[in-house]
Amino acid sequence: MALRILSFILTLLVLGGIGGGWLGWPGALAGVVLGAAIVWGVDSVRGRRFIDWSREPDTSAPPVLRGLWGEASYRTARALRAEQQKARDSAQRLTDFLAAIQASPNGVILLDPEGRIEWCNDIAGLHFGIHPQRDLLQHVSNLVREPAFTAYYAGRKYEREVKMFGRGGTASQPVKLSVQLHPYGSGHKLMLSRDITALAQADAMRRDFVANVSHEIRTPLTVLAGFVETMQSLPLTEPERAKYLELMAAQSARMQTLVNDLLLLSRLEGSPLPGVNEVVDLGALMAQCENEARGLSDLLHPDDARPQRLYFDAPPPFELTGAASELRSAVSNLINNAVRYTPAGGTIDVHWERLPDGGARLSVTDTGPGIAPEHVPRLGERFYRVDRSRSRESGGTGLGLAITKHVAQRHGGELQVSSQLGKGSTFALVFPPPRVRPLPAGAAAVSALAAAA
Ligand code: ADP
Repeated sequence: MALRILSFILTLLVLGGIGGGWLGWPGALAGVVLGAAIVWGVDSVRGRRFIDWSREPDTSAPPVLRGLWGEASYRTARALRAEQQKARDSAQRLTDFLAAIQASPNGVILLDPEGRIEWCNDIAGLHFGIHPQRDLLQHVSNLVREPAFTAYYAGRKYEREVKMFGRGGTASQPVKLSVQLHPYGSGHKLMLSRDITALAQADAMRRDFVANVSHEIRTPLTVLAGFVETMQSLPLTEPERAKYLELMAAQSARMQTLVNDLLLLSRLEGSPLPGVNEVVDLGALMAQCENEARGLSDLLHPDDARPQRLYFDAPPPFELTGAASELRSAVSNLINNAVRYTPAGGTIDVHWERLPDGGARLSVTDTGPGIAPEHVPRLGERFYRVDRSRSRESGGTGLGLAITKHVAQRHGGELQVSSQLGKGSTFALVFPPPRVRPLPAGAAAVSALAAAA
């Protein structure tokens, strides 16, 4: 500032001096006035350039000015750059923040105090059928018209969540959402939505499962209780007593089988996958299953003139890796089912084969009643039965195929079912190549001899 005053005085003195030297006092006065006018003019031009630039500082560089205006334009430009950098940082933070909310697996909607949508992520768009751009500033209650939500929104009790149907489901599998509003700021609301379809399904499955188990256990329990009561209240002859005790033993055996199957299923679900180091001797396993199946067949058709015909292949020339006890359960379930559901005189064929990709397949084919196509996809669900009475009569628990399917999947394989109503069925276990190994040389020779025999 001092420099500015000094240069102003100097200009007046110089021009006043020149004017005075030239024309005396009037010249000195004219020189001073001229000097003041020149300083004022230069200052005005600089000020005008600064003001012109400051009107749109973003579009051009600050003017190069000297003196006070130079300083002013430099400082203004620096402050402006700092503000611009701050604005860029804030915009970047906002973009990152919105991208993070966008990546959330939950739906997020920001509502203004009037309940209009300020912003929403794509998931919320899917949940409620909202267009994230087109529907901005629309009132949420106009777009989400599910009665449960309307009542919740109007009730203003936002400390709990509301469950409602979402968009995009089918009549048989509706999408279920859990929605909650969280007030924030001055009347704004954060609306969060979560897809709970899978949870709701798991819940329904759990309820069904408990109901099924209770039902399965209740029936034999009721029968047992009935017999106990009869034995307590009625004088029975010895043969009657023996008969009732036999029937009671059958009911308790049924409950025991059910509990064993349930325990096996829960063990399968809770234990680690079978490793590839345990080798399963398929020869021994098949011999055990064959004995069991022939015994069962004799038991079910004792005096029948037309017994079932059971054909078992010779032991296969390969072995499997996995859990022997699990595989035995899976294989014997399939063979025993074939024996239980095939009528007298029917045929059951058990066959191992090596697949072209190096895997292996065990097929159990019967000439039983067959299964209608609409039931086939549901086989393997717990307690799903096609023929309820036959299943119970022959001691079935409704869990056999669920166990078999689980074991196949734990070994990286699958359970395949093909059936023709009235003709018969083929249940097959397919194992992937890493689970199949050729037999060691000595064992292979024995197996070849057995096959030839
Ligand atoms: P269950 O103990 O009732 O036999 P499974 O899970 O083993 O239970 O079988 C489920 C249902 O599949 C059975 O109830 C039966 O209706 C049907 N099923 C299974 N195997 C056969 C088969 N070989 N032939 C016809 N139906 C079968």
